[in-house]
Amino acid sequence: MTRLMHRSLLTKPPVAVVARGVEIFDADGRAYIDASGGAAVSCLGHGHPAVLEALHKQLDRIAYAHTGFFTTEAAERLGERLIHDAPDGLEHVYLVSGGSEAVEAALKMARQYFVEIGQPQRRHVVARRQSYHGNTLGALAAGGNEWRREQFRPLLIETHHIDPCYAYRFQQEGESDEGYAARAAGALEEKLLELGPETVMAFVAETVVGATAGAVPPVADYFRRIREICDRYGVLLILDEVMCGMGRTGTLHACEQENISPDLMTIAKGLGGGFQPIGAVLVSGVIYDAIRQGTGFFQHGHTYMGHPMAAAAGLAVQEAIHQEGLLENVRNMGALLEQRLRARFGNHHHVGDIRGRGLFYGIELVAERATKKPFVREKKVNSVIKREAMARGLMVYPMGGTIDGANGDHVLLAPPFIVSEGDIEQIVVRLGDALEAAL
Ligand code: PLP
Repeated sequence: MTRLMHRSLLTKPPVAVVARGVEIFDADGRAYIDASGGAAVSCLGHGHPAVLEALHKQLDRIAYAHTGFFTTEAAERLGERLIHDAPDGLEHVYLVSGGSEAVEAALKMARQYFVEIGQPQRRHVVARRQSYHGNTLGALAAGGNEWRREQFRPLLIETHHIDPCYAYRFQQEGESDEGYAARAAGALEEKLLELGPETVMAFVAETVVGATAGAVPPVADYFRRIREICDRYGVLLILDEVMCGMGRTGTLHACEQENISPDLMTIAKGLGGGFQPIGAVLVSGVIYDAIRQGTGFFQHGHTYMGHPMAAAAGLAVQEAIHQEGLLENVRNMGALLEQRLRARFGNHHHVGDIRGRGLFYGIELVAERATKKPFVREKKVNSVIKREAMARGLMVYPMGGTIDGANGDHVLLAPPFIVSEGDIEQIVVRLGDALEAAL
């Protein structure tokens, strides 16, 4: 028993004492390769000297100033940096402390925008099944993971869910990618028409689905069609890139590969790389101008928003990615990771699908390959894999299948952008051993 309430109240995790590069060391001196970046957070790995230096400098100057009274150079510079690299149309940055807060802020900003422009009847949110947008009540309501939502449902705002774009599970036999993209995006239009499009404020989606389904990229043309449908009905498109954004998929923003821009975009995890808790909403000029010309303030705010230490970390992480050319390493090492995963697991009788982009890969596990039948939840495949991987000095991010049986257990890989070829080889070898022991 421990006074600290851990995620599991039944077990105490090992004590992490020091971390450098791609490894974390525990109090017993065991080393773990961080092949999941925690939960797709530690994009620079651990102990990056330039980030540590930036943090020390910031701490010496000013650690905290409430944003109701002051702004800081660190926050202003991070804002400039993020907009310099932002998709077209995103012109302003709202800083928060993490992913869920970013999603909450984006939802409230969408609502306030419509109130400001005289469309207060727009209140519905449409999102997707097999998605995750965070654990606070608004973000949990948007998410489509029934296991996470079930007991809290009475507390959640009504959200309308459509099927995700998830080729392995939903693309039909013989259906072309174009045909599937049209059908999957068409589900949004159907939902808007059912609700009355003039009552819908936003559609929320992860550009590449992260935690709930395991690094599922969209098929080509899906998001172009989604963008078109949102525009046709005046619905805001909120892309949640908390997990897949900030370089994880090989471009700074995952939506660059879809050739679209959202109206609001949430980012977090890789923004601060775990050196500080930070998230942000990137906001379109149109939304910003409407609120500015209306009440003139966004009716929201948190004590720690725009925290100077977090902003300094975010800025240093983003500068390091840029200066060290790490997006190229994400693309190169990502291609190697995919090749090694396919070579090792492509014919494995419990591996149904291997998919992803950049250094963001998911392996979906099934009881039966031919029928794609997931393992029964009682088997707790995800927990066993995690235990077996940790025993072999490997951190991966396994998740259980959804309770509706719509998708199976999966293992998510999201190693730091600094991984080497040798690290990739080790990750695949250790994961192979862990899966053999677990399944
Ligand atoms: N959105 C997505 C896509 C996520 O993957 C997550 C976390 O995994 C969140 C939001 C919530 O972020 P946080 O855990 O920082 O609140």
